[in-house]
Amino acid sequence: MASPKLSVIIPVHNESANVRPLCERLFPVLNRIGLAWEVVFVDDGSRDDTLDVIRSISTTEPQIGAVSFSRNFGKEIAIAAGLDHARGDAVVIMDADLQHPPEMIEAFVERWQQGYDMVYGQRTDRSDETRVKRGFAHLFYRLFSRFGEISLPEGAGDFRLIDRKGVDVLRTLGEKARFSKGLYAWIGFKDAGVPFVVEERRFGTSKWSFRKLFRFAFDGIAAFSTVPLRIWTYLGFLISFLSIAAALFFFVRTLLFGTDLPGFPSLIVSIMFFSGIQLMSLGIIGEYVGRIFAEVKRRPLYVVAERIGATAEVSNSLVPDNYLLRQA
Ligand code: UDP
Ligand code: MG
Repeated sequence: MASPKLSVIIPVHNESANVRPLCERLFPVLNRIGLAWEVVFVDDGSRDDTLDVIRSISTTEPQIGAVSFSRNFGKEIAIAAGLDHARGDAVVIMDADLQHPPEMIEAFVERWQQGYDMVYGQRTDRSDETRVKRGFAHLFYRLFSRFGEISLPEGAGDFRLIDRKGVDVLRTLGEKARFSKGLYAWIGFKDAGVPFVVEERRFGTSKWSFRKLFRFAFDGIAAFSTVPLRIWTYLGFLISFLSIAAALFFFVRTLLFGTDLPGFPSLIVSIMFFSGIQLMSLGIIGEYVGRIFAEVKRRPLYVVAERIGATAEVSNSLVPDNYLLRQA
């Protein structure tokens, strides 16, 4: 079989009821596109018969493959495994629950063929979600764009197509606390959004509890910002500054009106001053921890999209593999 041009990665966790309906809708779309394709399921430690269903489909559809985890590692890791196993020149990531309409893949591929390396589905409304959840999602995007080192397009999720160049870079990013959405944005490349409406989950329930979403949001911010570590410097500075203002205030008041409780002002002022100093020193430690964190993530310094002219020949032997991309 010719090596596939288009790979579709689908992380699945207890989705046995969804796999068949998904395949029935997905395969005709892929056949219509006309490129050689494959589907890579990543079974993220399902406890139901998801893997058996996939196995039985694969007996009649040779383009279907699966990687099965020994336990549940989470969707982010499942996506990473999918990227490792996909062979296509373009890779599509989608959910198994039919919330991501397979027909969109045609639009993705069209954009890709126009030269976009990253085509993401952009959800136009979140009315399927509760108000609270939407509120938090919005808050997250606000916080992230304020403090994160990169900008995330709002409404863009994991449903997307990534060119081989991008996939190769993503695979070099070995960080363990993975926030894929951030990584997609971090690698850069020419991108385009295609609006779509999220459908209802077909069978089963969402695997994301509120607690998990919170954890996820925190992971996202922590992976792309050191502000939470450094904020204490400013707070400490502010408190120490206020303590000096308080000292002045007590001084003037004592001169004018005498003392009502001897010892109280000096106690308050020194408590404030020293808690400020302590916060500041935490913040300074935070500065260094932040740098250590940035170093241990070992992200490449830069990502090259293309080389032109004589430069294209020189660099290959000088630039470490990680930073290299296949020549287009
Ligand atoms: N998923 C996974 N591992 C997990 C949780 C979810 O592989 O630990 C898969 C799940 O099977 C589905 C996709 O990730 O294909 C999205 O999950 P879900 O629909 O529960 O999330 P939501 O749509 O509510 O964000
Ligand atoms: Mg879903």
